[in-house]
Amino acid sequence: MTRVPPIRIPLLAALAALLCVGTYCQSNTSLDAAHTNSSTTVTQDSQHLESSIRTEMDFLASDKLQGRGSATHDEYLAAEYAAAQFQAMGLKPGAKDGSYLQHVPLPQTLPPLARRLLANLDHTPRVATTNVIAILPGSDPALRNQVILLTAHLDHLGMAAEKSGDYIYHGADDDASGCIAVMELARNLAAGPAPRRTVIFALFGSEELGGLGNAGFLDHPPIPLKNIVANLEFEMIGWPDPAIATGKLWLSGYDRSNFGATLAQHGAPLVPDPHTRESFFQRSDNYGLAQRGIIAHTVSSFGLQPEYHTPADDISHIDFPLMTHSILAIEPPIQWLANTDWKPKWNPGGKP
Ligand SMILES: [Zn+2]
Repeated sequence: MTRVPPIRIPLLAALAALLCVGTYCQSNTSLDAAHTNSSTTVTQDSQHLESSIRTEMDFLASDKLQGRGSATHDEYLAAEYAAAQFQAMGLKPGAKDGSYLQHVPLPQTLPPLARRLLANLDHTPRVATTNVIAILPGSDPALRNQVILLTAHLDHLGMAAEKSGDYIYHGADDDASGCIAVMELARNLAAGPAPRRTVIFALFGSEELGGLGNAGFLDHPPIPLKNIVANLEFEMIGWPDPAIATGKLWLSGYDRSNFGATLAQHGAPLVPDPHTRESFFQRSDNYGLAQRGIIAHTVSSFGLQPEYHTPADDISHIDFPLMTHSILAIEPPIQWLANTDWKPKWNPGGKP
């Protein structure tokens, strides 16, 4: 999630976030039941999924990856890791050169937002950023040209320029949590019968610099952009949001289209973003896609925690049961979306 506009953090919200961790566990049973009763053909055992999530988080948010700074070698290592995961799932590579990695040169002059951000960060050479693109081809000849795009961002803030105290911005929630959601949804979709529609999984570089990896994807997409039926960006699903009901996720720009409400009708635990003053619809990679006309929203449970964009966004603050249940709960409606011919539409005035 990019930094602007400035985040305002009410103290009560931060306190409520601490209290919410305990109450979450009480709802696990009903979420488990909902998942077990769903009509999906493939389900993941929740314990196995949580263990997989922890393993991925242990790598992506580790000190060794040095905060996956935008367009750094550390971001590249995260991209290689995700590409290896997608390859092991049997997904097709989506970059033009036949690999999973799309290299996007940074512009000669970075946007003012990016220059301000980098002023306080490690002075590492930054020449190109890396996207990871993997494709699960659709099985229905009439629907396989229709694409569902599931995305998150690989990069975070890297290291502070001043190396004292904890100077690594681990980005466990922002956005290792989203990348893990996309990888686990991919793993599950790839393990079952091929969906009727094509599903593309993309992890973007340099989101924190203003969506630069995503801009490269839009300039050189693996398929014509008009084929993308809808995009869900997963951002910061590792912390509970005390402003919404336990076990729910919020969708940015919910009322701009009929996408969120329809997914909710099909079992998605989605509610409108309660933090409308934060303009989250404009603050992640979904926005660049939406500006091109694609129905694109961000899924999150960010509750304006004070650890946002600090080194304390680390593994110790991740609510793993919450992440596990969020991924399990969103999976059946995504299975539905990948197998239906229904298309979402902008509501009047909703298209940016
Ligand atoms: Zn961020």
